[in-house]
Amino acid sequence: MSKYKHIFFDLDHTLWDFAKNSKETLSEAFELFSLASLGINWNEFIHEYWIVNDAFWDDYRKGRVTKEELRYNRFHFTLKHFDVDNFELATSIGDYYVKYSPHKQNVFPNTHETLNYLKSKYKLHIITNGFEEVQYIKLEKSNLAQYFEEVITSENAGVKKPDPKIFNYALELSNAEVQESLMIGDNLEADILGAKEVGMDQVFFNPDGLPNNEEVTFEIQNLKELIGIL
Ligand SMILES: [Mg+2]
Repeated sequence: MSKYKHIFFDLDHTLWDFAKNSKETLSEAFELFSLASLGINWNEFIHEYWIVNDAFWDDYRKGRVTKEELRYNRFHFTLKHFDVDNFELATSIGDYYVKYSPHKQNVFPNTHETLNYLKSKYKLHIITNGFEEVQYIKLEKSNLAQYFEEVITSENAGVKKPDPKIFNYALELSNAEVQESLMIGDNLEADILGAKEVGMDQVFFNPDGLPNNEEVTFEIQNLKELIGIL
């Protein structure tokens, strides 16, 4: 008998296949805005975008840049790398990306099978640092909303993971005790250290099996391993 009653999931890169969905949307934008005609190579574009985007997300998590700066500057910086200094174009790509990427439906392997199993035994919730208006669209479009009771976003909590306040807020909102709760996520800092900080057990979702030295309650490479644990 598991001691857990509440399972909190991260959304991006844990259930919703952010990288795949992102790449599909970027490929559409690349065509639509004719970036090849500006001398930009698709593979180099996407490579550069990942680097810039990761840096901006890191800054955003730390409160160093705003949502708007993140949305537009990541494309402005990426374009500038190819000597295209065009903020208006960056804004158009940024708007296209934010509008269409949440409609993508790729989720990680075994997501639905695992959530179906877990839903019959536990109360499931989401804790996400993504933008409020975007995260709800993702949950609906990819058919994930049906599994979750509470959806806690950093915008409605007022702080982002790993801030303990968002975890405490999530516990309160879902009427959960920390000892009977489990956090599942792909980000060691935001999800795992954040949960640990408030005394919550954690599952590190590490699909690529990247090496790490963090002590975690559980580590999995495929979501279906949760069925064996829970
Ligand atoms: Mg994540």
